[in-house]
Amino acid sequence: MALLYKWRWRFINEDNSLWVKLIKRLYGDSGGFMERSRRCLGGGVWAKIVGSINLLHEKNVLPETVLHRVLGDGVKTKFWKDNWCWTDKFEVLFPRLFALARAPDATARDFWGDDGWHFSWRRPIRGGEESLQLTNMMVLLDSVSFAHRPDRWRWDLEDSGDFTVRSLRKHLDGSTLPIAAQPTRWNPSVPIKINIFFWRVILNRLHSRAQLVLRGVAVESILCPLCQEEEETVNHLLFECSMARQVWQRVATWIQRDIPLFDSPGGMIAWVDSHPMVRFIRSKLESICMVVIWVLWTYRNAKLFNPERAKKHLLFDNIREFSFNWFVVRNSKVRISCVDWLQNPVFM
Ligand SMILES: [Zn+2]
Repeated sequence: MALLYKWRWRFINEDNSLWVKLIKRLYGDSGGFMERSRRCLGGGVWAKIVGSINLLHEKNVLPETVLHRVLGDGVKTKFWKDNWCWTDKFEVLFPRLFALARAPDATARDFWGDDGWHFSWRRPIRGGEESLQLTNMMVLLDSVSFAHRPDRWRWDLEDSGDFTVRSLRKHLDGSTLPIAAQPTRWNPSVPIKINIFFWRVILNRLHSRAQLVLRGVAVESILCPLCQEEEETVNHLLFECSMARQVWQRVATWIQRDIPLFDSPGGMIAWVDSHPMVRFIRSKLESICMVVIWVLWTYRNAKLFNPERAKKHLLFDNIREFSFNWFVVRNSKVRISCVDWLQNPVFM
């Protein structure tokens, strides 16, 4: 599978080569990748490659956003249809605007004039959701700058940004069996290890003391190492424990939102999803929640295995610091200062 994916990487990077031109003539400009319509591609070798790769994305084994454009001169970057400016394509982030776009295949360069961005709509933008989406999009575009080099693609599983079979294989090995049962929640603003950690939380695969007992491992105590009062299940440790609740309460004050008492990761996800806001803000909220539970888990491990490094008074600072550092590294186009982040990272 990892080897097959290389074809996609080559397809998007070798657009002047004869074989790519041929494929495009046969299967369209996208080569059949990520065709929403599931157009019949026939039964050839190419169709099989494309089909397997599309399935990998559809099942969320590998998020589609693992590939994104790094803007250069903007000539090859599709403004709406490439993932280039934020965590997802504009067509997905701003569907109301996309529906009004006169030129859905336009490039970023097409919309950029001497004095800023110029769009062409099928009718004037109306108030409410449409103008809200436009405002949000303009905020993102405000930090965009073109460069005197060609646009290129970046592969997020490798620090260098270049696709390697090894990185994909490692990712696929890490995401073994119960894929069908539980789609991954992939958050692009936190590192892969946090996404994988979160996935294990959802699947109840963390080695909490209760979980170890279930697996027949002898443990000295089944009590939560943080409060010493209740059995240590994952839900207790991360959400119900009195100490975890103190941390969640501080986070609630920080982001200026009421956070209900979650009883499970499912409850947390449902709460994040219940926010009627633009997807990238919800994604930011989700990334912070993921950092909270990760910090709680590492604190718990330090307390058990490395007590001198377990510093309770740093928990909240760690959450703010990690979430900020990870966010800015992964969203280089967004200008947000540490001070802003400390004041309120999500709702500004
Ligand atoms: Zn506890």
